[in-house]
Amino acid sequence: MTDLAATRGLFALPDGVVYLDGNSLGPLPRGAVERLRRTVEAEWGERLIRAWNECGWIDLPTRLGDRIGRLIGAPAGSVTVGDTLSIKVHQALASALEMRPERRVILTDRGNFPTDLYMAQGLVETLGRGHGLKTVEPEAVADAIDGTVAVLMLTEVDYRTGRRHDMAALTRQAHAAGALTIWDLAHSAGALPVDLGGAHADFAAGCTYKYLNGGPGAPAFIYVRPDLQNAVRPALSGWLGHESPFAFDADYRPARGVARMRVGTPAILQMAALEAALDVFDGVDLAMLRARSVELSERFITGVEASCPDLALASPRDPEMRGSQVSFRHADGHAIMQALIARGVIGDFRAPDLVRFGFAPLYNDEADVDQAVAALSDILATRAFDRPEFRTRGKVT
Ligand SMILES: *Cc1c(COP(=O)(O)O)cnc(C)c1O
Repeated sequence: MTDLAATRGLFALPDGVVYLDGNSLGPLPRGAVERLRRTVEAEWGERLIRAWNECGWIDLPTRLGDRIGRLIGAPAGSVTVGDTLSIKVHQALASALEMRPERRVILTDRGNFPTDLYMAQGLVETLGRGHGLKTVEPEAVADAIDGTVAVLMLTEVDYRTGRRHDMAALTRQAHAAGALTIWDLAHSAGALPVDLGGAHADFAAGCTYKYLNGGPGAPAFIYVRPDLQNAVRPALSGWLGHESPFAFDADYRPARGVARMRVGTPAILQMAALEAALDVFDGVDLAMLRARSVELSERFITGVEASCPDLALASPRDPEMRGSQVSFRHADGHAIMQALIARGVIGDFRAPDLVRFGFAPLYNDEADVDQAVAALSDILATRAFDRPEFRTRGKVT
């Protein structure tokens, strides 16, 4: 079993930085640097086209899928890696809607990430068959599940508030109503134990650049329940999801299993970095990771509430109802976060008024929490955020 105090050394974190934004972009794993160098120089550079076979490039999506599967309760052969999460959401939704041809409602919640909502809206337009996206408050999802719902499409952990849905209970309820489920695990994978198999989830997708630390632009993953895989028609019927890509048939025939959700040529350099990032999770007990994340988040909430009376907790108070992030509201949230970042404490801001902090016990500890609380309370007490340089907004917040 890996000691979580030891994993911090596996990341190349800059000196003087308290990094509480692994929920947006995980830090650089030291192993990724060496792995990328090897893949670029020894594989791409030396082996050239031969590397697809000799270095196992062609099977990377499957190999990585199985490794991610172990972190999300998915059996071997049920996850494949590639593309972006937006695309994987589109694929899952297109396939799921086709499996419920007599129904027209996609049920989601206001806490879902915009790209999930946009992809659904776009797909509804493309299909032109009168589907509708029904968006309710997160607390109202359970009551909105009825016999009209084709697909329940949710993000398990709300990107703004960290509120966490009960995946098993909602999936059970959706199935009882005859609906399929799609779970977005963007803020779950690598952050807390997920049990897709135990929950009988039908589809799931996630990204790997957040808590899995795969690097900017790292590929996404998609899960399809094993007994559904061969009934799923892939809407994006790319050649690498074909049963026999190198037969170069003129007609599409889907591969067996989850491999049919592959689309085109995998991003090998990104996947190499991701493979090294996943090495960090080897031997990590996710239940222990989760317990540490609760400890750190609780310590942060207690510290902030004791010293920053102007900040209002926007996350659920009950840790069981949260993922691995904590958000507070303040009308000057953007300037406050800029002032905090200027002091080396990095979180992020989500419009209109949320300052957001992610806790990743692979590299965060109590000292990080205490430094963040101290910096935040000083910035608020002295109104250090009230300076023109903290008012300008970058393209990315
Ligand atoms: C981060 C995030 C995404 C991002 O999708 P990309 O296609 O990787 O840009 C999608 N959904 C959720 C819930 C997210 O948190």
